[in-house]
Amino acid sequence: GLPLLEVRDLHVEFTTRDGVTKAVNGVNYSVGAGETLAVLGESGSGKSVTAQAIMGILDMPPGKIPQGEILYRGQDMLKMSGEERRKIRGRKIAMIFQDALSALNPVLTVGFQLGEMFRVHQGLSKREARHKAVELMDRVRIPAAEERVGDYPHQFSGGMRQRVMIAMALALEPDLIIADEPTTALDVTVQAQVMDLLAELQREYDMGLILITHDLGVVADVADKIAVMYAGRIVETAPVHELYRSPAHPYTRGLLDSIPRLDQKGRELYAIKGLPPNLTRVPSGCAFHPRCPRAQDICRADVPVLLPVTERDGVAPAGRASACHFPEETIHG
Ligand code: SF4
Ligand code: MG
Repeated sequence: GLPLLEVRDLHVEFTTRDGVTKAVNGVNYSVGAGETLAVLGESGSGKSVTAQAIMGILDMPPGKIPQGEILYRGQDMLKMSGEERRKIRGRKIAMIFQDALSALNPVLTVGFQLGEMFRVHQGLSKREARHKAVELMDRVRIPAAEERVGDYPHQFSGGMRQRVMIAMALALEPDLIIADEPTTALDVTVQAQVMDLLAELQREYDMGLILITHDLGVVADVADKIAVMYAGRIVETAPVHELYRSPAHPYTRGLLDSIPRLDQKGRELYAIKGLPPNLTRVPSGCAFHPRCPRAQDICRADVPVLLPVTERDGVAPAGRASACHFPEETIHG
């Protein structure tokens, strides 16, 4: 069937004093109902900017979308009227950000802020809205919701505050949630709990979920498929287990090798050399070439296209693609 959301050949530019920054450079991805897509990349890879384009947060200058489509159930949101778009963004597609403390109003109770969704969007009374707020807090497993509904954001722990953000996103029963580094600010154990909750709710409501993260370890257990971004492009896509088993892009391999693993305690961790590029001066050819241990002359000259990857047995698993001139060597080498 039709994916819930499909991004096609998306380009996003920012005009700054230093020139035009090409933050997103021809990105394609899609997510269906009940599916979780992880979008992985370092800061500046374009993963958040893509999400912001979907949410319409950069419709204003200096951000510009010179090319591309953002299809919600087959309809291009970029061609919709403002009214049509508002019915989708925030309602059908909700977003969760990293920093709950700055997203919540410090002088209003959590219950009031949750209830506001229902008062504003569904015209519920204060009493009914409060009741709905308690229900939502229950759904995201905040203990003693009835007692805590009148508490202020600072009275909650970081993990509980992030649950409040998830509750807010769930309020209007969206089809799709986009979570941008939802657990980055939390302790490791709390990270796993919040991630498990998201995955559980996603299954319960059969929603699509886009998880944006710089941390491959965090999404391993919850994602169905992964898109790895580098310098505004997708450099590898794969079902999550395929990507872990055999990355087909040297950048992905570097990310995997830099994750601490229990079974290899004491081993020195690999670090990808160098830094992500400045997007006003993206390196020629493959943007990863200055950091790539496999780079050849062709890498400096030609931009590699994202193409299906063939395994040794000649099979190209669905959804498996790499933007590298030497994907097979990376898999098997
Ligand atoms: Fe490395 Fe070349 Fe592949 Fe880029 S195209 S990732 S530089 S081997
Ligand atoms: Mg970001």
